Amino acid sequence: MTHSATKRTGRKNFREALSPLQKTKAPWLPATLGTWSVGLDDYALEQYLFVGPRGGGDYFRVGIFAGVHGDETAGVLAAVRFLHELASKPEIARGYELYIYPLCNPTGYEDGTRHSRSGRDLNREFWVGSREPEVALLERQIRTLRFDGLISLHADDESSGFYAFALGAQVTQYVAEPALRAVEQVVPRNCSEIIDNFTAQNGLIRKGYPGMLCAAPEVSPRPFEIVFETPHLAEIETQVEANLVFLRHALEQYQQLRAVGQDL
Ligand SMILES: [Zn+2]
Repeated sequence: MTHSATKRTGRKNFREALSPLQKTKAPWLPATLGTWSVGLDDYALEQYLFVGPRGGGDYFRVGIFAGVHGDETAGVLAAVRFLHELASKPEIARGYELYIYPLCNPTGYEDGTRHSRSGRDLNREFWVGSREPEVALLERQIRTLRFDGLISLHADDESSGFYAFALGAQVTQYVAEPALRAVEQVVPRNCSEIIDNFTAQNGLIRKGYPGMLCAAPEVSPRPFEIVFETPHLAEIETQVEANLVFLRHALEQYQQLRAVGQDL
């Protein structure tokens, strides 16, 4: 046991959160994007690649990001569980290369805080020359992999229903809307006209904050980009289920839109 582990007993440990993914003969491919130290503690950003069965054409590449805010744990649990679901039902990922990042803010996760230990909101640090290691590592992956879609899982403690930011390509709302409809079976939608200070329509916001995790600024055409927000005060299991339903349906919907040759 390391000194820091002794000192911090009782506290959450990011490696423990990811330990269900450490399986021999796992059907996903793990990769450590990079490591860094904060005081005596070592941290890492982990990526898990799941390649589904071949679809009709080229693989679509989608990034799924959770735990960018360290206290929003439902997304972290959902990402871990989604990988296991893919293992037992690979059909969900037919035609997809899914790059899953279950814990993008390991220090914030351990501290139970939205911000990382450096005091930064990592979801305001993208593509602005950030020196935060988590952001730099993710930016490099996002730039290299050129995703067809990005889905971020978040939670909002000021919302009693779920909602989403639909950014990027115009098609994003057509990917998001059927998925949101499916989530209504699990938890209510936030239908307010103003959510999080943005104009919203049926739980969809078409704008975002500067510095939110998204595709690299030079990328054109834009991929679909969705930030899915569960109501943070709902039962954790309900939020996890909402995330899973959303992921399944968004992937299915994008596949269908592409199959009918939707101009994206
Ligand atoms: Zn968040």
